[in-house]
Amino acid sequence: MFLTSARLNSNMTDRQIYEDRMMHRLSRFLMAALKHVAFIRIHAPCFISLFARVFIAKPVPTFARHALAVVSQQVVVAISIIAWSSTVSADGRIPMIDAHSQIDHLVNLDVVLPTMDRAGISRVIHSTRGKRKLSDIVQLAKRHPDRITASMRLKGRIYEKNRPEYHKRLQKMRNGRFGGMAEALIWHAKKGKKARQVKVALSAPQVQAALKIAKEKGWPFIVHIEFAAAGKNYAKYMNAFENFLREHPNHPMALIHMGQLQAGEVARLIDAHQNIYFLTSHANPIVVKKSNQPWVNLFSGQKLKPDWIKLIREHSDRFILAFDNVWAEHWGDFYVDQAKLWQKALHGLPPKAAYAVAHGNAERLWRLASAN
Ligand SMILES: [Zn+2]
Repeated sequence: MFLTSARLNSNMTDRQIYEDRMMHRLSRFLMAALKHVAFIRIHAPCFISLFARVFIAKPVPTFARHALAVVSQQVVVAISIIAWSSTVSADGRIPMIDAHSQIDHLVNLDVVLPTMDRAGISRVIHSTRGKRKLSDIVQLAKRHPDRITASMRLKGRIYEKNRPEYHKRLQKMRNGRFGGMAEALIWHAKKGKKARQVKVALSAPQVQAALKIAKEKGWPFIVHIEFAAAGKNYAKYMNAFENFLREHPNHPMALIHMGQLQAGEVARLIDAHQNIYFLTSHANPIVVKKSNQPWVNLFSGQKLKPDWIKLIREHSDRFILAFDNVWAEHWGDFYVDQAKLWQKALHGLPPKAAYAVAHGNAERLWRLASAN
């Protein structure tokens, strides 16, 4: 019932959706509890006298039987209240959208949905890489329109070298069933044997051609620049990126992996540019622990760090939850654990900020149906 009402009425705010869900759960719970309490009040005296006859071999006076029945009724009410409070936290799960993940040819497509279910992820804006066919993600999105949004792929050698095949693929996807566009690699450090170094200027024709389509479709443009890994080229990349933001002041630009930036720099960029957004992928201890790259970690232990909480509270419209799952080994506990960590962290934020980061911003920017 809740699911339908939330979907039908897209004008509801997140807070209203949350309250609607809670009221629905509460009324269902109260009905069930009343049934149990009435059952115990009626039947407990009979059970008590039966028990007494069998084990004590003595009849129990009527007043004692009724007194015991009242006591057991109270016990059930207490247990129910405890059960209800645990249901609230279990069912108070904040719907989460993963605004950027990928699959290559080595990922078994059949694990994607079950892993999302285990992680509590409502929807993934999903792209391909490696030898994975574009049509696979389009088909997956077609089969699960409420869970998967196919996202146009930019990366690959044909992108890096600005080959005609890249532009052909871009036009083909432009006419296909896509609902977003995946990251444009601008500065990408080499990652072991799996991912090579990529350097493409924001002004390069392959980037501009993609941006043109993102603007035409009204999708955020996702930029991958590893500012921490850029080292001595940090200022050069920052200048180029800020010029890019200024050139397109009305188009949302999202820095994936938080741009590997620290809170102070993120705050400065938010104040300076109305069109900058941040995707939270990789910026958590589970990824940081497994990687030798200078990803920023928004967490201290299991909790968001105070300076990030402050920033997210003040600018909750600028942060978008994402995981950027890529390899086959990611589509399992690695994904589930990160999602659980974020689910917990989101509960530490005021509801308005938590809902915005978890799903509201993605729904608004990519015009998605309300997540459940
Ligand atoms: Zn990336």
